[in-house]
Parts: sequence; structure tokens; C-alpha cells
Amino acid sequence: MKYLEEYKELKKVLPQGLRGQLRSVALDALYTLDQIKGIDAALNKPRVQFLYIHHIFRDEEKNLEALMKKLSVNHTFLSHSEAVEKVLKSEIDKPYIAISSDDGFKNNIRAAEILNEYGAKACFFINPAVVEMTSYDEIKAHCESRLGLPAVEFMNWNDIERLQRMGHEMGSHTMSHIDVAKAEKNFFIDDCNETYEVLQKKCGEAKHFAFPYGRFANFDEKGRKAVFDAGFISCASAERGCHISQDRSLLNEELCIRRDHVIADWKLNHIMHFLISNANNATILNNLFPYTS
Ligand SMILES: [Zn+2]
Repeated sequence: MKYLEEYKELKKVLPQGLRGQLRSVALDALYTLDQIKGIDAALNKPRVQFLYIHHIFRDEEKNLEALMKKLSVNHTFLSHSEAVEKVLKSEIDKPYIAISSDDGFKNNIRAAEILNEYGAKACFFINPAVVEMTSYDEIKAHCESRLGLPAVEFMNWNDIERLQRMGHEMGSHTMSHIDVAKAEKNFFIDDCNETYEVLQKKCGEAKHFAFPYGRFANFDEKGRKAVFDAGFISCASAERGCHISQDRSLLNEELCIRRDHVIADWKLNHIMHFLISNANNATILNNLFPYTS
């Protein structure tokens, strides 16, 4: 019974190979181009950038600190609720960052402590059925089948309460990490209502939702409707992009939050390249869901 504790162990299991090396060289070159064009002009652009940090293993903590330090130069940190409100009201007057994390790994507690050092409050999207898991074999099977990872320890309700006391928010990531696009409509409606009720009962509020796997192909119009019908006020993807003001306020049901998935182990310049690229390519279309009813 051994949980994964270091990112370097994960890299051994999921080797990057030549493709990873080529990607790294390409991102180095793109960041050099960013520097030539001017980094501050992009990073000082008024916008809301949501970042999804996922896991912070022991050997990623220093990198998270370096990332937070770098981000704090040009950005103000907002909680997920504050950031959602800024985008909904189209009141985006400065560069903002809002951090969130999905799946509820135990190592998110250390991440939360690091975020607190920078005055950043995050939203942790959890799967209540996974929070309740206690058997190692069950957790291992969940990690392998739903997350494509070796066994990683999850937070329990006491850990979640601790994060809330530290000022962080909790959101729903479905009961047990399902692909919403593949789920039957009534099954997902029940799932949404159940996580809403569990979060209200255990955490005192249920406001935000992020769909598992995060790509637009993993969600759909029936999912969008069910999320807002259940009572959630926001719904997040893990598609890259940032949000800028448009000429009118948005309805809750219209806003599709984009988040950049970031692995703290990545080179800092590579992460910055993605944020610079988002800022340069920001469009109000990023604010909307790509589905039609
Ligand atoms: Zn997830």
C-alpha cells in the first residue's frame, strides 16, 4: 500500500520521450519570441486568467512557490467566486488570476498553504464519493480507471474543512468523476443534485462546478443545463484561454469558464508562454459555451 508522493515517480510511469523533448524545445523558442514582442504588455492586459493546478507533489512545491512569485508581479489574485463575478459583470479592469484544483488530492493541502503565503484563495473541485473512499484498493482502482494515474491519496472531509478554515472554496466535480458527455441525461441530473446537496451539507455552500476531463468534448448542452438547474452559479472547463470584458453582463448560464491546466513541474517560462498567448489571443467568445441547444 503506497501512494504516489513525488512527481518524478509519476514521470517514470508516464515517460515523455522524444515528443516531450520536442515540445520543450518548441516552448523555449516561443517564449524567446514572447520576450522579443514584450512580455509585460501581454501580462498587464486586463483579463481574468483561471489556472488549474491539479496536483502539487512534494517535489513540485518549490516550483509552485516560484510560479506564485512570478504571477504576483503582474497580477492580483482573486478567489474563484470573485473572479466569476468579475467576468459575469464584465468588470475586468486589471490582470487577475484565480486558482483552482480538481480531484481533491491530499497534496492540495500543501498547495493551499503555499497559496495562502501569496494571499491567493483557491477553489477545490471535489468528488464526494471519492472523499468517502477509505480502502486503498478502491482508491487505486479509481485513480487507474478514472484518472489514468497510480494510487494518489485523497483529502477526507476533515482536510476539506481545514482548507475552508484557511479561506478556500469547494466546488463539485461530479460524485465520482464521470465523463458527462457519455452519461445518460437523468443520471447526470441526479448526480448534479446529489453533489449540490452534499456540498451544501458538508461545506455550507455549493456554488461552482467543474466538469471532469475538462475538454469541450467531455461536456454538452444537457450537462450545462443540469448544472445550472441544480443551483450552481458557474461551470468550468479545462480548455485554455482567459476572459476579457464584453459590452454587456453575462447570465450565469452563459458563462463557460476556461482554465489553463498547469503542472508545477513544467518550466516556468513554458507556463508563462501559455498565459502570454492567452492574453494576446483573448476574445469575448472565450466567455461562452460552444454548445447549441
Ligand atoms: Zn478531474
